[in-house]
Amino acid sequence: MSTAILDAEKIPGQSLDIKTVIPACPIAVYQFRAQRLAELAQESGLAEYFGLLEQLVSAQQKVAALDGLAAKSCFGPEPRLDLTQSKPMALDHFEWGNYWQSVLLELVSELMPKVSAELRIVLKDLVKADADVVQGYAKSMLNGHFAQVPAQYSLFIWAALSVYWSHWAADVAEGLAMVGESHRRLCPVCGSHPVGSVIKDEPRTGLRYLHCSLCETQWHEVRAECTACGESKGVNLWAETETNAAIRIESCDTCKGYTKMFFTDINPKLEVAVDDLATMVMDNHLVEHGYSVTTVNPLLLAHEQDEGFQPSEQPHAKVGDIH
Ligand SMILES: [Zn+2]
Ligand SMILES: [Zn+2]
Repeated sequence: MSTAILDAEKIPGQSLDIKTVIPACPIAVYQFRAQRLAELAQESGLAEYFGLLEQLVSAQQKVAALDGLAAKSCFGPEPRLDLTQSKPMALDHFEWGNYWQSVLLELVSELMPKVSAELRIVLKDLVKADADVVQGYAKSMLNGHFAQVPAQYSLFIWAALSVYWSHWAADVAEGLAMVGESHRRLCPVCGSHPVGSVIKDEPRTGLRYLHCSLCETQWHEVRAECTACGESKGVNLWAETETNAAIRIESCDTCKGYTKMFFTDINPKLEVAVDDLATMVMDNHLVEHGYSVTTVNPLLLAHEQDEGFQPSEQPHAKVGDIH
């Protein structure tokens, strides 16, 4: 990618009334995501994988839309949450039980008739596996140890966890929206990593929100500050074109992390998880320059958070220009 470096500190001040947290709206998120997967399938060069993801996300949408008795038997009773503590839906902060496994069964039964014979075998093995073993996989993933879970299962387990978490997250987020809190690198509802930054269209044009990789909540984060370590010096934007690029990467010379930014005010079709996946080539460029990704993509899950990116505590002594 040809690199345009913009001075992130020149972004004009924002005086809008800022909503700190935007609650998850899972049905709308999954519908939008499935639509974007269909749109980008051909040009992605990964048509088959995008096709599978579209089926999976559509199944998530269907399960998220269950109501009445069907929703009760799938999602179980409302979990008891302590809203006075930070990140009330972080895995150690409440009894999340195993109702998420009923969500997994629903997703699998939706997918079964639509996927290849090969994948059907994988899904059958997954639902036949011991419930405690599957619970262990979920715990590993929620702790960021993605590599501890058989690779063929991780996408489906995370998809089910995500539907369960987003189902209960909206109420929590509503409560938190009133509480102002400064720099938050992890989701204020569930403590998971973001997928990326979304720069908003109307009515919040130009504001930056991070989108949660688990519960689909969005939380506000000022621009021109690294989303991983909070530093504002040495933050650069990279893009494929010098002006008006709809997808940019923000890199930080303090922690050497990077995060993608999706400008929905420039292209309203952008969907954070899908467009991140469709632009992996941009990641290679940053990795070549010594930066590490600070985000998690629920459609990919290839990152190992505990061994991967860790913001360094000591700022680098000298920061040169990136070329
Ligand atoms: Zn979250
Ligand atoms: Zn940083």
